[in-house]
Amino acid sequence: MPQTQHAALTEALHARRDDLIALTQDLIRIPTLNPPGENYRDICEYLDRRLRRMGFETQLIRAYGTPGDCDAYPRWNVVSRREGKRPGDCVHFTSHIDVVDVGAGWTVDPFGGLLRDGKIYGRGACDMKGGLAASIVAVEAFLETFPDFAGAIEISGTADEESGGYGGVAYLAEKGFFSPERVQHVIIPEPLQKDRVCLGHRGGWWAEIETFGEIAHGSMPFLGDCAVRHMGAVLDVFEDRLFPAMAARRTDMPVVPEGARSSTMNINSIHGGQPEQQPGSTALPSHCVPDSCRIVIDRRYLVEETRDSVQAEITDLLDGLKRDRPNFDYAMKELNHVIPSMTDRDAPIARTVAAAIESVMGKTAEFVASPGSYDQKHIDRIGKLKNCVAYGPGLLELAHKPDEYVGVDDMMDSAAVMAQSLVSLLLPATINGETN
Ligand SMILES: [Zn+2]
Repeated sequence: MPQTQHAALTEALHARRDDLIALTQDLIRIPTLNPPGENYRDICEYLDRRLRRMGFETQLIRAYGTPGDCDAYPRWNVVSRREGKRPGDCVHFTSHIDVVDVGAGWTVDPFGGLLRDGKIYGRGACDMKGGLAASIVAVEAFLETFPDFAGAIEISGTADEESGGYGGVAYLAEKGFFSPERVQHVIIPEPLQKDRVCLGHRGGWWAEIETFGEIAHGSMPFLGDCAVRHMGAVLDVFEDRLFPAMAARRTDMPVVPEGARSSTMNINSIHGGQPEQQPGSTALPSHCVPDSCRIVIDRRYLVEETRDSVQAEITDLLDGLKRDRPNFDYAMKELNHVIPSMTDRDAPIARTVAAAIESVMGKTAEFVASPGSYDQKHIDRIGKLKNCVAYGPGLLELAHKPDEYVGVDDMMDSAAVMAQSLVSLLLPATINGETN
């Protein structure tokens, strides 16, 4: 890009620093807690006003009938589009508007948007209202500097990412908003760090496993059959065979942190027999052999695995117990499933954002993948759009924690990278060429 235009874009961004701070604070001050899914309409209307001012055509879309959608907590989304002067590719920035529960341990108001020492504090500051604000300001600076761009720019604010995205990106993808005919490049400004390009995420498979027994008097357990002991055998076989097998499996995905570069499984919960005593209860338990024990598992899997292979590996172990262990019987029920998604690092959007990081920050971009999933899965599976990355300011480690914050300098740098990516994707080669 010629030097003068480069300078004009940088100046347009710097002139917006205070505005970026104010926008981030405004977004934090709308408490969009999920659950239950509060104030989605308010934040969508706020974004709608802002985006219209920039010449975007906007739509407010309620995801009727999706999980949690009801008149008290409607699942609203906003999608906006601004056409360029000539045909070309469409670049879409999509951010979720919801934030997770506040939790204990805060020393500042979680919805105050406090600015202190170059950081803005609040629930959602880094995950991901800071990223949303950075993308809006990047687009505004780009539009001011290059009003004659080709193609189109879209910005969306979507519901429910923190609870799976079914009332948000999944719903919009089903309605065609992420079809490759409409959108060619997607950036999700999740807090993956300003010098990293996130190519995708692992898959997840959640299931409940139940073992069965036979109720009897606790003084004569041999007259019954203890479901908790059967579950003990399940846990043993997981320890002896499943966990070592998963740990030995390594992925080519650049997942960070390092420990997540293998298959992993968490056991979320275990319960067998009588309900736990309520706190404060002085009643004593009665004496019974439990006839049921349940666990919930959270299995995260690699792009080299499939849902079927993940499920079969566990089924094989449980069927082995059924053969070898007297009276063993079990049931397994899938609770949820999401696919892994991995964009090629040579995909146009991955290369473009990496090059923009290099030109803005003077360092080589790191390609990473996320241990947990985010909205890319829906864009990939439902939208059939493969040209998608996550890129945005903030540290993933701060997400969902007390005193969550986002750094103003980090937002400014990320906004510069986003604006530079728009230059590469939406301006003709004469402006964009290696002339500087
Ligand atoms: Zn997020």
